[in-house]
Amino acid sequence: MEINRSQSPWKGLLALSLALCMVTLTALSLGVSAKSSTDVISVGDGRWALVKDGHVETSYTGISKNKHGWWRVKNGYVDFHANGVYRNEYGWWYVKNGKVDFDYTGIAKNANGWWQIAGGKVNFEANGVFRNEHGWWYVKQGKVDFNYTGLASNAAGNWYIKNGKADFSKNGTYSKGGVNYTLKGGKVQGNGKTIFLTFDDGPAQYTDQLLSILDKYGIKVTFFVTNCYPKYQYDIQKEFQAGHAVALHTYTHNYGTVYKSTSAYWNDFEKMENVISKQTGHRVTMFRFPGGSSNTVSRKYCSGVMTSLTRQAGQKGLTYYDWNVDSNDAGGTKTSDGIYNNISRGVANHKQSIVLCHDVKSYTVNAMDRTIKWALQNGYTFRTLQPGGYTVHQKVAN
Ligand SMILES: [Zn+2]
Repeated sequence: MEINRSQSPWKGLLALSLALCMVTLTALSLGVSAKSSTDVISVGDGRWALVKDGHVETSYTGISKNKHGWWRVKNGYVDFHANGVYRNEYGWWYVKNGKVDFDYTGIAKNANGWWQIAGGKVNFEANGVFRNEHGWWYVKQGKVDFNYTGLASNAAGNWYIKNGKADFSKNGTYSKGGVNYTLKGGKVQGNGKTIFLTFDDGPAQYTDQLLSILDKYGIKVTFFVTNCYPKYQYDIQKEFQAGHAVALHTYTHNYGTVYKSTSAYWNDFEKMENVISKQTGHRVTMFRFPGGSSNTVSRKYCSGVMTSLTRQAGQKGLTYYDWNVDSNDAGGTKTSDGIYNNISRGVANHKQSIVLCHDVKSYTVNAMDRTIKWALQNGYTFRTLQPGGYTVHQKVAN
């Protein structure tokens, strides 16, 4: 059985589990003989090994599974002393006494750094403040950034970080981008409300300008990227390196193409996945449907397609994000004053606001300095969307 390595991880995992289901069934039908299959089995003297066709695979080092779990294998043998973060072709895994611990969520380290783990797997889409038993840490794209000093946020608030770690002893004031913050026990005294700014349809000609504004205030946002302006693909890498969340929107953004059928949709999705992973080195699990999940334009091309796609997304381990505040920059609002008014009024009505914006609109990007400054001065916290975190789902209407 071939596992296509060019496929995305969820497909790979599915293929892997299917492959291993088959192996288990084969082994059972042969009376647990590993002679004609690959499996992690006991080889005596308390040792377990990855055995293929009756031989220990001494050339293999990685993570392998059997019916009892996933195991750290070194030179063919399960290493029961392995503790930390180890990788195979499907991801990076948290290993405890040789076995992947799928119950672990926290921060664990290996020789390459400290990593945010969610359910046993390194979460490369984690951005913000995360904790383990040693403290609270600033995480950028799944990795603790020990070089960072400044503010960073999580669901509990906005925190002062010193060399990657939340400094709960910090009191007084802190200034950034002309905004003054009051700190108490390392925490910014805010209004308890969170804004998730999201920018769709780029990267494009105004994205660089936007990145500079975000950098000035040190806030992180979420980009739902496309390939509509291929010459700006490099901005995906810039967004990623700056610690923003890079999520997937669409390759073509052509409703007639993507909503023709479910397979047409996922084909377009995979093309965009490839563009993103080329720029960032990672696959994404967060995305937004063109037009949102409640769009009705898709009815014209395929009846019921949104109902099927929203269901399939969950099965694939993907999460889609709609919005509860609309800047209306793809609607009738075409001035920066209008964008500022729509956002500032909108976010006042929610404890958590996912704000729809488009970084392909000059008037939106031009509104951001004023909008962000207003929000920070009024105690709002900015965060990136996170897998498993806050999301808004509109009502599917097709
Ligand atoms: Zn869009």
